[in-house]
Amino acid sequence: MSDMDHVTREWLADQVGGKSKLVSKEGKGSFAFAAASRFDRISLQVADSNTTKVEMMRELSDTQVDGLRSWDLDLYNAHTSSDELVAMAIRLFDALHVPSDFGIASHVLTSFVGAVRTGYFARPFHNFTHGVYVLHGCRMLFEECPLLQHAFTPLDRLALAIAALGHDIGHTGTNNAFLIASNDERALRYNDRSVLESMHCSFLFHVLQKPENCVLSTLETADYREVRRTIIGAIYSTDMANHFNDIAKFKNRRQAGQEWIAEEAADRQMLVEMVLHAADLSGPARSWDVSSTWAGLVGDEFVAQLKEEERLGLPISTFMQAPKPKLERNFIEFFVLPLYKEMSELFREVSARVEQITSNHEHWGTILDQS
Ligand SMILES: [Zn+2]
Repeated sequence: MSDMDHVTREWLADQVGGKSKLVSKEGKGSFAFAAASRFDRISLQVADSNTTKVEMMRELSDTQVDGLRSWDLDLYNAHTSSDELVAMAIRLFDALHVPSDFGIASHVLTSFVGAVRTGYFARPFHNFTHGVYVLHGCRMLFEECPLLQHAFTPLDRLALAIAALGHDIGHTGTNNAFLIASNDERALRYNDRSVLESMHCSFLFHVLQKPENCVLSTLETADYREVRRTIIGAIYSTDMANHFNDIAKFKNRRQAGQEWIAEEAADRQMLVEMVLHAADLSGPARSWDVSSTWAGLVGDEFVAQLKEEERLGLPISTFMQAPKPKLERNFIEFFVLPLYKEMSELFREVSARVEQITSNHEHWGTILDQS
């Protein structure tokens, strides 16, 4: 493992501090109110149902169906249409037994998934494909880890599935630091606190408010309150600012040595959050082809944000300028690998992911050495 260099330190400061230690550009006001983002202004008015309808339920090929049961699922390099992604998401809800447990009508689930698809923007990385990938990662972790099957209640699985698919809905393709620095209206609305995650939650529950999308309509009020609480906690846990604290909390709880029991709501919430966060960072836990494409798309968003910072005269996120192999190797080393290693202490089945992550880390290191 290499020492933490200044680029990584800056990144850590940016992610964990929730605001950048950035290099200011001379003579340009970083906090000028005029510096409004060109990116889509968030609208909590959910798209009309006629734009969210899925025209037909796409049949999936055997390869696609098999892929949903494998960490090798490749949604990037094997072309996957938008309707196929919807069909995959529905199958993943099925795999978590969500529709059968709660009597969710198929047209309601289809409408909900279609509305979530519409809510994602066409960003290079934070798009509907990413939502489906994260749902897939949750399914894989759930199926591979008997402890999760033992611990999670049906309501936890319902909350996890909804949170996973919608956790980045409405993502701007920029980070919280950018939204704060540019005085974006979302930062103003949410007081600079977990700006994106606050918006994703709110957006998602506005989608669920529409009767045709309401996969929660069969729940009693108390169950609805519980699912809502779980989803909100899970989505907030995807804010990288919480990354180190959440791992430390999990480690402390694990080292306390008591059994994880399904009756303990706080334990189950922690597990839901860890699973969602791990699935959100599951790019490096996948095959090299998927992992490297995933990293490339993140890099494309960085380039777009850097251009915006330049155009708006904002401080430049210099950590985003590092060469991709270095960025990715460091990201794996300081964020992803420690997370999966900690999880593998409780779930030994996660060890296979640790091996894959280690292999991808070495691959980036080799590329870096040769550059
Ligand atoms: Zn995400």
